[in-house]
Amino acid sequence: MERRPPLNRRLSEFGTTIFAEMSALATRTGSINLGQGFPDTDGPEEIREAAVRALRDGRGNQYPPGPGVPELRTAIADHQRRRYGLSYDPDREVLVTAGATEAIAATLLALLEPGDEVVALEPYYDSYAACVAMAGGRRVPVTLRPVDGSFRLDLDELRDAVTDRTRLILLNTPHNPTGTVLTHDELAAVAELARERDLYVVTDEVYEHLVFDGAHTPLAAFPGMRERTLSISSAGKTFSFTGWKVGWVTGTPELVGAVRSAKQFLTFVSSGPFQYAVAEALALPDVYFDGLRADLLAKRELLATGLAEAGFEVYRPAGTYFITTDVRPLGESDGFAFCRALPGRAGVVAIPNAVFYDHRDQGAPFVRFAFCKKTEVLEEAVSRLKALAG
Ligand code: PMP
Ligand code: GLN
Repeated sequence: MERRPPLNRRLSEFGTTIFAEMSALATRTGSINLGQGFPDTDGPEEIREAAVRALRDGRGNQYPPGPGVPELRTAIADHQRRRYGLSYDPDREVLVTAGATEAIAATLLALLEPGDEVVALEPYYDSYAACVAMAGGRRVPVTLRPVDGSFRLDLDELRDAVTDRTRLILLNTPHNPTGTVLTHDELAAVAELARERDLYVVTDEVYEHLVFDGAHTPLAAFPGMRERTLSISSAGKTFSFTGWKVGWVTGTPELVGAVRSAKQFLTFVSSGPFQYAVAEALALPDVYFDGLRADLLAKRELLATGLAEAGFEVYRPAGTYFITTDVRPLGESDGFAFCRALPGRAGVVAIPNAVFYDHRDQGAPFVRFAFCKKTEVLEEAVSRLKALAG
């Protein structure tokens, strides 16, 4: 009898993540890595020092409390109040996780019964599909389509995607990989739909501080949404410490309690000393957050202009540190093949957006470049990419 393969059916469609594959390709070929989204400069020195201090002082070196250290839970609640006027009880309505990745996994494992449907904006961050699958759910993509230079949500399609089996909408704004920031009206329409159909909404807000055009408004701030929304964020992008893996979930005690039930059996706890450092980071003055945004805005301009000059069609992102491009003006149609050849042609690595689609054909010509890199690195990448135009 033929032996069953080790990987179960739920996960067999998911190979190695594109981020690991493309970062390995960058290392192997010595290319500039504009693929995986991580900064090439660490975050604030005083926050790094805060982590060192916590480690030296013996804070967090043993298992921290399951829901997260009180200092961090309080800092998260303060941040939500100060930024968005949202009030959460640090003891019952805040849960610290191993990055947003665990928050997403625990939320889906907690809320879904097998067969439940999850409506998510396509293209979507790759862990969504895998986690929906692990939870036995069914993903129902709603495709963002290019309209006048940005990828937009069709609200009628969203409405049509909801069925009696829909358990939740998984929303990501600012959106990776397109850089779309949903407008106030779009969010209001999502909120209305969720109320009308009595749905939960899980919002992935890891790029909340990286909005260049418009403003970030958490869905939980809309009328009637606090009680049905689980808001997820993390320190990785906001403070440029993606390796620390400190994330969090906020919501009602009932919802957060459900997520905690799953989370306790995934990691139980993580990132002890880093939790203290992130508590300090969240309390940094506005000048830090403004500086981060200004720095990345300048880099967005540098890379967007360079990519356009190199012949790409550029979708200038309103948020995140990613630029989605269309490679068709370069005479290409397959983003995958383009990305695999790019190290050889130009010494640069990018990510094919098709991997974030169920409808692969819809994503085929799109390629994502990250701009969370040093100015000189972006300048060198741009000069290499211009060779493609010639
Ligand atoms: N959601 C989105 C949209 C992301 O781009 C990422 C990658 N940073 C994550 C979640 C995961 O965040 P973390 O590194 O905190 O697990
Ligand atoms: N969020 C990052 C990106 O989209 C990568 C995270 C990862 O490597 N899993 O590039």
